[in-house]
Amino acid sequence: MYCYGSVKCIFFLVYLIMVFEKDKKYLCLLAPSFVSEFDYPNIVYRLRMLGFEKVLELTFGAKMVNLTYYSVLKENLDKGEKKTWISSPCPTLVNLIRLKYPHLVENLIPVHSPMGSMGLICKRFYSDYTVVFIGPCLTKKTEATELGTVDEVLTFKELEQLFTENNIPEVVEDSRYCVSFDKFYNDYTKIYPISGGLSTTLNYRNLLKKKDILVKEGSENLTKIFDGFKDGMYKKYKFLDLLTCEGGCINGPGMIGNRSVRERTKRVLRYRDYAWQYEKDLGKSGQKIDAKDIDFKRKF
Ligand code: SF4
Repeated sequence: MYCYGSVKCIFFLVYLIMVFEKDKKYLCLLAPSFVSEFDYPNIVYRLRMLGFEKVLELTFGAKMVNLTYYSVLKENLDKGEKKTWISSPCPTLVNLIRLKYPHLVENLIPVHSPMGSMGLICKRFYSDYTVVFIGPCLTKKTEATELGTVDEVLTFKELEQLFTENNIPEVVEDSRYCVSFDKFYNDYTKIYPISGGLSTTLNYRNLLKKKDILVKEGSENLTKIFDGFKDGMYKKYKFLDLLTCEGGCINGPGMIGNRSVRERTKRVLRYRDYAWQYEKDLGKSGQKIDAKDIDFKRKF
């Protein structure tokens, strides 16, 4: 199958060309915010029809992020270190800190994002595939370039354009393509793209109290918080779960944007509940053993 697309990416002022070459195998890493824009499971069938041989959701990467966050927080709290840790999956937030608040780089939790983590997992299990991340975020393009474990990044807007250019229908009935996600699957981290999704799924009860955690989004709030740091601490908080976009990644700049944030949130929660109810035991869940010896920590 050969298909192509050409999309103007205003943020980087470049044209992105996504070309499926006949002699290559393609793997799609799909951000769970997809369900705010596209219907499940049809989106998986459409991606297969487009030319992706493997379609994986990012949620197992998010689970490994959570487990690594837990061990980093535990190690530092056990040592009695006084510091307010800042979540680091949002590359726009990371860039803001690097550029305007370099003294806070050491407060960023030194762990890969779910995309970075799944990139490492793909290098272990699918090293002969070209890995394409598809999500709501423009800045993931620079994160992918920096990490080198994900080959291409497309936004949902760009994906929609590819579907249109390649005449991929919204509902696929051809049984050759009607296969759901490949391994590695996870259910509870499907709420990661909603503000607070990370801390809600972190299972922190043995480490932190609710009052130790602050959940916030929006660039104005981030600036206020970073301006308010004193001696490595933001007030008395131990962990800040922060995202740049209002409402979280479900409101990222690469979303198509036909629905309100409220409606998108509802769709994500409904999708999580559906997975809990019907897709828990399909034998496709990613297990900790699958990621054994992969180091999910990184430096900023
Ligand atoms: S909050 Fe926005 S900028 Fe940050 S990762 Fe999500 S989509 Fe990207």
